[in-house]
Amino acid sequence: MIYHSTRNRGVTADSAQAVLSGLAPDGGLFLPAALPEFDAAACLSGTPEQMAVQILSALLPDIPHMDTLVHRGYSGKFTAPDLTPTVKAGDFTVLELFHGPTSAFKDIALCMLPQLLTAAREVKGQEKKILILTATSGDTGKAALAGFADVPGVGICVFYPDGGVSQIQRLQMATQEGANVSVCAVRGNFDDAQTGVKRIFAACADGKLLESRDFCLSSANSINIGRLAPQIMYYFKAYRDLLDRGEVKSGESVNFSVPTGNFGDILAGYLARELGLPVGRLICASNANNVLTDFLRTGTYDRRRELHKTASPSMDILVSSNLERLLYLLSRDPDLVRSLMEQLSEQGFYTVPASLKEKLDALFWGDFCTDEAGTRIIGRVWADYGYLCDPHTACGWAAAERYRAATGDCAPMVVLSTASPYKFADAVLTGLGASVPEDAFDRMDLLQEKTGVPIPRNLASLKGKPILHRTVLDREEMLPFVLKR
Ligand SMILES: *Cc1c(COP(=O)(O)O)cnc(C)c1O
Repeated sequence: MIYHSTRNRGVTADSAQAVLSGLAPDGGLFLPAALPEFDAAACLSGTPEQMAVQILSALLPDIPHMDTLVHRGYSGKFTAPDLTPTVKAGDFTVLELFHGPTSAFKDIALCMLPQLLTAAREVKGQEKKILILTATSGDTGKAALAGFADVPGVGICVFYPDGGVSQIQRLQMATQEGANVSVCAVRGNFDDAQTGVKRIFAACADGKLLESRDFCLSSANSINIGRLAPQIMYYFKAYRDLLDRGEVKSGESVNFSVPTGNFGDILAGYLARELGLPVGRLICASNANNVLTDFLRTGTYDRRRELHKTASPSMDILVSSNLERLLYLLSRDPDLVRSLMEQLSEQGFYTVPASLKEKLDALFWGDFCTDEAGTRIIGRVWADYGYLCDPHTACGWAAAERYRAATGDCAPMVVLSTASPYKFADAVLTGLGASVPEDAFDRMDLLQEKTGVPIPRNLASLKGKPILHRTVLDREEMLPFVLKR
């Protein structure tokens, strides 16, 4: 299947090469030239693993044996037998995406990506090792490290903003074992780390820097289509659960509220819709970094603002990479996308044409939630429904409520829950009106005592693990650090 860059239809790759490369060589993102025919009804009748097989073989047909890869990717790694369970809480259905090995929704993609990458490497007959470079706002890093640790033929290097992730997130990464892993803090915020990674890719794009080295680069960020594609499955799974419970009739639309940062998760929802799932509105939920809310309301994307550190750090992002894919999918105009992305990088903002804005309005709705409002929601949802949500999920909940109040659209609403409340126990305790102990493990213990919700085993077991990674770098030092490996 032909993939091409969002910025130039002449820059092409097959689906295996697109997974291997991550970013397209012209700086754009890979998308299929045309979406495949897809039998959504057949997909809905399968188990979550079977759903993943159908979706991934449709989108990545150049990678063979998808059933084996999916089984290897997921089997035995999740604490929920159906991978992504749904729970009814009040009027909403919560789609829990945090039952994987690192208690974050990114596990769903990052359990699969190593399988897809190593298979793609084989298909393309590539002999060099693959070095995965990843910038993380907290959750991707650990999920990627866990997914790639000791996978043959692959190395992984994770950069996170120094001081920009939670205590538990930092511990999760700094204690990661594996002969092929490195972890580095970068002075600055997430955008600095992400820009640093993009610059390394750009510097190595012509192949000269890596000619004499035994590795080539790829990415585990959601700019990689192999990271994005596995996320489509759980939209189908949620819909199937609603069908099974008689809450929707086949074909009826369901709205999804998605806590959003890099726009990967919500774009997977859009792709689910393009593959035939009856998705109504996609609610784009942000925190105080409300650049996407403003964009969806005005049509102007403007990154010229302070990045706020919030209680939902995985959404502390000013440049949402995957939005580029949506701009292409809605306009089918690579020249437009290229010029918008140039404006964004040179002037810090762009405005989409009115025709594109209209399409956005029909599909998406944006809102945001401050930390204070999120804290109140965590307390209220616990008090009213006995459901414990993390601060990212609280943003999704807030946007879902506001959407209903503003539009009167009462279609079934699925709120995506992207992290275990135990990854952000400080904010959750505050929401419950409890005092917050100094130590991250005391926080988890107190939260368990107060709610009876069990601490995920992978988080409890961090206690006492040795710190293996202590490097802190400036952005300019990232490229030399990678090259000296
Ligand atoms: C990554 C992440 C998000 C945002 O997902 P994107 O695909 O970047 O939009 C939301 N919540 C949590 C907990 C995350 O880790």
